Amino acid sequence: MKASTGAPDLDADARCAACEYILTGLPSSGTCPECGRGFDLADASTFLTDDPFMRWCY
Ligand SMILES: [Zn+2]
Repeated sequence: MKASTGAPDLDADARCAACEYILTGLPSSGTCPECGRGFDLADASTFLTDDPFMRWCY
């Protein structure tokens, strides 16, 4: 039997810190196509991520 939490928290969507546009699929750094705010996926302070514990309601 394989132990698994079933929680897919490996790649929570990155979202623009200003407008919450989903940045997943975009280059790892650049500017938000929606509002132009700069982001760098290597720097967690420049974007938001969906909290896995908040996704149950979707
Ligand atoms: Zn934005």
